[in-house]
Amino acid sequence: MNVVLFGPPGAGKGTQAKELAKHYQIPHISTGDILRANVRDGTELGKEAKGYMDKGELVPDEVLIGIIKNRLAESDCKPGYLLDGYPRTTPQADALSAILEVIGMPLEVVLDIDVADEELVTRLCGRHMCTCGESYHMKFNPPEKENVCDACGAELYQRDDDKEDVIRQRLDSYKEKTQPLINYYKEKGLLVDIDGTGAIDRVFSDICNILDQYK
Ligand code: ADP
Ligand code: ADP
Ligand code: ZN
Repeated sequence: MNVVLFGPPGAGKGTQAKELAKHYQIPHISTGDILRANVRDGTELGKEAKGYMDKGELVPDEVLIGIIKNRLAESDCKPGYLLDGYPRTTPQADALSAILEVIGMPLEVVLDIDVADEELVTRLCGRHMCTCGESYHMKFNPPEKENVCDACGAELYQRDDDKEDVIRQRLDSYKEKTQPLINYYKEKGLLVDIDGTGAIDRVFSDICNILDQYK
């Protein structure tokens, strides 16, 4: 099952991907999580990426293409992959096709999760994250114990880029650089629309109804 989860920041890609990865037993590959881990560990890659991430700008394509190429070569991707947050530009999408052709695992479906802008801002302003990649929301999806991750018990934090001015910049980057990929994948016949509003469970079952066709 070879899947891209597409959609603006805050659409619920990470939230859905975590559950989908468990349900279908395929790895969840989030370029945002990979970049944040590098920033935390202070790697060269993290040092290069941090300035862009803090401003809500996209990290340069060559950096992301390198990351994704290495990650998809790992053995856990044999049964499939769930990409979250990649591709975000046309050069990234072209590079992905080339990489997938070489490894013989072509993309089967791109799920475009749609949520209105104002709702995205509300979601991101109230988002609380865990370093394990789980994301929560103070109102919409609170953890069982305040400020503690249900999955791993670590303390939750708010991302530096989940501030309103940076959120607006991320939404602008999305519209300018990423949204054109909707047509790109529509033309390839790979795009499926998902209504991202409503309960997390409802969105999950809508996605499973689609993905069950690719099992
Ligand atoms: P993305 O990975 O697309 O940026 P997340 O999965 O991190 O988005 O979700 C953004 C925020 O919205 C999180 O705080 C999450 O708990 C919340 N959220 C996710 N899905 C829903 C939903 N269907 N309804 C309300 N809030 C949601
Ligand atoms: P979101 O909640 O916006 O979906 P992500 O966790 O996917 O956030 O990404 C956080 C930041 O990491 C982005 O604002 C961007 O700076 C960087 N980033 C992640 N994935 C990519 C990508 N494919 N191309 C360029 N930059 C990326
Ligand atoms: Zn956790």
